Order: sequence, then structure tokens, then C-alpha cells
Amino acid sequence: MNLVSDFKMACRQRCPLCNEGALFKSDGSMGINDVCGYCGADLSSYDIGDGAVVFMIFILGFLIIPLALIFEYIVSPPLWLHAVIWSIICLGIIFKAMPVIKTYIIILENRHRKSN
Ligand SMILES: [Zn+2]
Repeated sequence: MNLVSDFKMACRQRCPLCNEGALFKSDGSMGINDVCGYCGADLSSYDIGDGAVVFMIFILGFLIIPLALIFEYIVSPPLWLHAVIWSIICLGIIFKAMPVIKTYIIILENRHRKSN
């Protein structure tokens, strides 16, 4: 129930109830399975909305902008190189972090749903 164990659970991207069944569809769409394949829990009731996207905007904003400014100050590359480098880095971070953040939000939703 602490941040480290929650992060480890989120990295596994498993069902928040049994921690075994796959949370995301296997087609690579980052969509959440309707039912857990392991315990049969209804996963379609979890609605994270735009929460994961908002987290990504904040993380990328606080991470990428200072790095881009430092890179500009030290190297002063042409503008097109900035666009290429930071676009690739942003996309890489998004594709790696988005499922983890979605899983984390679902873990939190599941925890607070149980306490009600
Ligand atoms: Zn499950």
C-alpha cells in the first residue's frame, strides 16, 4: 500500500484484484480488457478518463522542457534537430510510461472503491 509496491504492481500491468490476469488488450491498443482472464473480474467498470494523459503532459513538460533548454544552451543545434530528438524521446516515454500510469490509476481506483 505504499508508493514503491504500487509502482511495482503498475509496472506488471496486471489486474488490480488478482495481480495475475493481463490488464491490457493484446492488440497493442492500450485498451483495457473487459474481463480479467484469470479471476473473471469486471475490468470494464474502471474509468480513468483522461487521467493518464494529464499525468503524461505534466511529466513530459517538467522533464523535456528543461532538458531541451539545457541542450540548446550547451549544443545550440538547429531547430529541426530539436524537433526530431525531442519528438522521438517524447514518443518513447509515452509508449513506455502510459500503460504504467494507466495501471497505477486503476490500482488507486480499485483501492478507493474497496474502502467505500
Ligand atoms: Zn484478475
